[in-house]
Amino acid sequence: MTNTLPLRRAPAAKVSPKDRGPRAFGIIAALGAALTLTTCAAPLPARTEFVLGTVCTVNLYDRGTREAYDGIFARLREIESVLSANSDDSNLAEINARAGIAPVPARAETLAVLSLALSWAERTDGAFDPTIGPLVKAWNIGSDRASVPDHRTLEKALALVDRNSVSIDTKAGTVFLAQKGMKLDLGAIAKGYAADETARIIRGRGITRAMIDLGGNIYALGEKSRGKAWTIGIRDPETDRGSPILSLAAADLSVVTSGVYERFFVQDGKRYHHILDTKTGYPVINDLVSVTILSKSSIQADALSTATFALGAKKGKALIEGLPETGAIFIFADRHIETAGVVPKLNMLSDRFRITQ
Ligand code: FAD
Ligand code: MG
Repeated sequence: MTNTLPLRRAPAAKVSPKDRGPRAFGIIAALGAALTLTTCAAPLPARTEFVLGTVCTVNLYDRGTREAYDGIFARLREIESVLSANSDDSNLAEINARAGIAPVPARAETLAVLSLALSWAERTDGAFDPTIGPLVKAWNIGSDRASVPDHRTLEKALALVDRNSVSIDTKAGTVFLAQKGMKLDLGAIAKGYAADETARIIRGRGITRAMIDLGGNIYALGEKSRGKAWTIGIRDPETDRGSPILSLAAADLSVVTSGVYERFFVQDGKRYHHILDTKTGYPVINDLVSVTILSKSSIQADALSTATFALGAKKGKALIEGLPETGAIFIFADRHIETAGVVPKLNMLSDRFRITQ
């Protein structure tokens, strides 16, 4: 679950002609044949599939053919098969399994995403760290085995979170984790990579208007119509109903949110969310409920949404202010909202929240 959503998305078809039975299909086919005499085929409606551990919807507003959708979702499944920290046979799992033993040949996707993740680890002084795997496994947040780990388990996991123990040999194309038990987890950044890849494939097909939503990791490609941007909503952090509290106009822009309410569990009346503090081993505690990043690069937006949340508002804002063409919206637990960097006009949809600076 996440809290960014494209508003006014074209309705997805619930049933394909193939699934409607022979009679309905016959009528549609005949109608279709008649229409093709006078018009071009209408693009197919949005497609939604469960991939990357989440619900992914792609809506191609022109030239949305079956082949185009097939190609996009095949690529998303390929990215999952390489970068998943949850499967035993991904490239990431191979690298993790050989930690402390030997370097492992890395796929191009792994090298690209890991290199960028490590550069953000450096720039955030380790608040964002792709070697977070042992800590993520200790908490199991998002699974039905989630529980507060004991002190010893956390200590052991924390000792294995170390960005300086990752060696990338670009010439040999390998990755080596120096300590046994280390584990890479690219969950904070890989959906952004996948969104950029989706946008690249779409543009490569000459499609100029599309909405990509990979579990709330949004890429608004092109414009909704000539001279008119898409409208993206930022979800209410206090409800799971999905109603937006504000909206903004976006064209060729990725909008990515990290928050405390996306993945969490409750134990003994206390909530534990999934963005982890690399110093304490516990979920990050600060005054934020979410950070939304706006960038033309979805991988940057994904990395930065998690990184700025982990850094907290003060350091997070300073990081964003130093970056070109990047904006951030910080929503605080006391219901005030602050922005940093390049943020378009925000349209408030809720009177419970207020923008201050
Ligand atoms: P983000 O804020 O973008 O990322 C939070 C996630 O980053 C955490 O869940 C954790 O994995 C990691 N993280 C936590 N703290 C830090 C930190 N300080 N620094 C760096 N990283 C941190 N989910 C499933 O339940 N089952 C699956 O099989 C599954 N497969 C996936 C396969 C792929 C390729 C990807 C990209 C994701 C998959 N997921 C799966 C989802 C994944 O486990 C994360 O929960 C998800 O990516 C979190 O994204 P987010 O946008 O909600 O939050
Ligand atoms: Mg992220």
